[in-house]
Amino acid sequence: ASPTDSSTQPTPMMAQYLALKCQAQDCLLFYRMGDFFELFFDDARQAAATLDIALTSRGEHGGVPIPMCGVPVHSAEAYLARLIKGGHRVAIAEQTETPAQAKARGGKTLVARAIVRYVTAGTLTEETLLDSRRDNMLVALAQVSGDGAGEIGIAAADISTGRFETMTCPVADLPAELARLRPSETVVADGSTLDVADMHRFDRAAFSSSRAETALKRLFGVATLDGFGQFGRAELAAMGGLIAYLDHAGKGTLPFLAPPLRQSSGSHVAIDAATRESLEIVTTMGGARAGSLLGAIDRTVTGAGARLLGQDLSAPLMDLSMIEARLGLVQLFHDDATLRDQVRGVLRALPDIGRALGRVAVGRGSPRDLGQLRDGLGEARLLRERLGRIADAPHLLQQLLPALDGHGALVDALARALVPAPPTETANGGYIADGYDPALDELRRMAGDGRRAIAALEAKYREQTGISVLKIRHNGVLGYHVEVPARAADTLMAPDSGFTHRQTLAGVVRFNSVDLHEEAGRVAQAGAHALVAEAAHLEELIGAVLDHKADIARAAQALARLDVAAALAERAAEGGWQRPHFVADDGAGPCLDIVGGRHPVVEDALRKEGQPFVANDCRLSDNDRLWLVTGPNMGGKSTFLRQNALIVILAQAGGYVPAQSTTLTLVDRLFSRVGASDNLARGRSTFMVEMVETAAILAQATPRSFVILDEVGRGTSTYDGLALAWAVVEAVHEVNRCRCLFATHYHELTRLAETLASLSLHHVRAREWKGDLILLHELSDGPADRSYGLAVARLAGLPPAVLKRAKDVLARLEAGKARTGGIAAGLDDLPLFAAVAAQAEATVDPLRAAIDAIDADALSPREALDQLYRLKQLA
Ligand code: ADP
Repeated sequence: ASPTDSSTQPTPMMAQYLALKCQAQDCLLFYRMGDFFELFFDDARQAAATLDIALTSRGEHGGVPIPMCGVPVHSAEAYLARLIKGGHRVAIAEQTETPAQAKARGGKTLVARAIVRYVTAGTLTEETLLDSRRDNMLVALAQVSGDGAGEIGIAAADISTGRFETMTCPVADLPAELARLRPSETVVADGSTLDVADMHRFDRAAFSSSRAETALKRLFGVATLDGFGQFGRAELAAMGGLIAYLDHAGKGTLPFLAPPLRQSSGSHVAIDAATRESLEIVTTMGGARAGSLLGAIDRTVTGAGARLLGQDLSAPLMDLSMIEARLGLVQLFHDDATLRDQVRGVLRALPDIGRALGRVAVGRGSPRDLGQLRDGLGEARLLRERLGRIADAPHLLQQLLPALDGHGALVDALARALVPAPPTETANGGYIADGYDPALDELRRMAGDGRRAIAALEAKYREQTGISVLKIRHNGVLGYHVEVPARAADTLMAPDSGFTHRQTLAGVVRFNSVDLHEEAGRVAQAGAHALVAEAAHLEELIGAVLDHKADIARAAQALARLDVAAALAERAAEGGWQRPHFVADDGAGPCLDIVGGRHPVVEDALRKEGQPFVANDCRLSDNDRLWLVTGPNMGGKSTFLRQNALIVILAQAGGYVPAQSTTLTLVDRLFSRVGASDNLARGRSTFMVEMVETAAILAQATPRSFVILDEVGRGTSTYDGLALAWAVVEAVHEVNRCRCLFATHYHELTRLAETLASLSLHHVRAREWKGDLILLHELSDGPADRSYGLAVARLAGLPPAVLKRAKDVLARLEAGKARTGGIAAGLDDLPLFAAVAAQAEATVDPLRAAIDAIDADALSPREALDQLYRLKQLA
């Protein structure tokens, strides 16, 4: 059966379902029926498969049973989480009236239902559905025609905290920006030609810059957007799409969004997707957090801190004063261990007020969320007092402190109103504190009196009937009732007993009585009134919180920044890390001078095995920009390359670095490329990938960039690979003039040192001792003396017979090389790169190019004549 074949008239319920399903489009429809959400037709099949629950059927449609499955409402969140993880989108259709209201409406008794919310990966706020230590970004992308065509507007928001940012970038930079933002969901306009992974298409009309302006002004209650900065049209269109999509998903309830923070492409270090992946900045290549740079350095004690640290590492800064400001705060916590411990102790106990606010703003705030805001903001105030006593507070701290304050009245109100540990559920009340509202206290007293009276009745009835096992019980269907074992029921059944029979079950019989009925009515009424009173107070408190939402978000942000700084200081203290020293690029040219650098992830891994990590220097300067690193496999080349890139990231993110000393000028772009065979997991033609990525570096790296190239050229035959590696090194040295570390096993490349003035040779040291290879992981000047390939193979456990055979083959090859001059024999009289490059430029003759471009067979006589005229013009 499918919803579309309607050979017979659907039941009223099915008709209602189908109408809702029509609105829900590509979502699974959760259709509320009493205590269950039910799914039908194909939705049921998909959900049952993803959730691994039973697929049954209910009724028929068009003469065929309707597939169905259901999940209990009280545990729906857990199921939702799995469906969203499984890539589904869900529409929630709730009953919007009670059965009694439906009846009162007349005739039909089918209760009205409506979609109240769409649950998608990018629009979550529930604690259980989110990773507390990771942002959950929703991204909208837009392109406009005319002015600014070719640029992409990006609007990105984490509605669970209100983080909201926008930027405009060239199409080519989109993958890098998406890799930075790591969206959980991406929305583009219907009919857009943009093509990114897992995107969702949404109403084209929403992506309009003029509609966006109106929506933004309304959202932030301002008359003009000028206060937020100057937005481009593409950016506005993206914000428009984002807000309209949120409005749709929340069915008119917009989440809290902080004023949009405008990023420009120059505000952070440009790091493309391939580089992020290869450096494993916030996740490993396998997608795990553990084993990444973030995983290795994260000592934050709050979810918000962990999220901010992830943002910082994903977007190292280009603004020196901001970097120094962050470093100043880290240094405060680094130098004062007592202060650090105190602050971290306070932060550790702090609830996630940013996310609590996010839930309150979308109308899903619980008493517990309000309790978290009370506790979090209360602690923030204490922290403000402690930190306010610091003499000569660093600049950033002075900026943050005011945000921690000013919530006193709200905190006091919440403290008076709420019980110490308020529940998540409101259904049973009990979250408003005694003494807050005399009327509520009175209702509670009445309910309590009633319950005590009922308890007294039980004793009285036992005595009266002589049935000692008589009980007064309560359930949802009967309310309060008297229950006796079946064998004792006769006494109460007697017409003049004062009891009315209600229900007979196996073993027990249930009764009512006039007194019990009266008392129960009092309890129920007082209880219901109390619930209403509590709900009204909750509503009021939520209003008070929302009045302060922007300030609360600022406090949350300030607490997260303190956590990050204290955590970086903690990590630095653990590992003896040092503050990096930035120097202005004042004519001496860019430098990257790292003494005793270490790789934080590899060092961690080695420590667990009880192995020491060997620190190495990387001393790039304007006249020694390019280091060629050779040496045996497993000698530590890749580790060395990466550790220096990671140190740059840490430094510009405003952190201490794992090195004895680090002096650098700002890096504008960071590139990391790994030769093809290390990269098999990617599943594209790997050599092609390697070359595409290398091309990107040659096109984009500037003298202020830092590039690491690891075994580039390895993905093809020896001759091709060597030739390409050779040409790439020359181009990087002569044209890009960036700071670069180049690891290779092509020993022949070392000859480049003779022609390239700013290139120097280095190698990772190894020794053969009694036939065993010892890798020292220590960087030394000059080229490696030999390749040690066979020794490495032996280390890897290749059988002795194979090793023996390889030794014989090698001997022959080397003899041959001596005779013929070997693989690099012809390279001695190679002309200089500059000469070749200049010639390549010069030989682009427009006339020749035009002639080359003509496809003679495809021309009509008329076109041929036109071409002739054109060529004559060029000549
Ligand atoms: P290569 O790129 O030369 O093949 P790697 O950088 O992959 O070598 O290093 C291989 C292994 O050697 C690493 O997994 C690590 O265990 C060890 N290693 C690398 N560098 C160091 C170092 N500086 N100190 C100690 N061990 C190291």
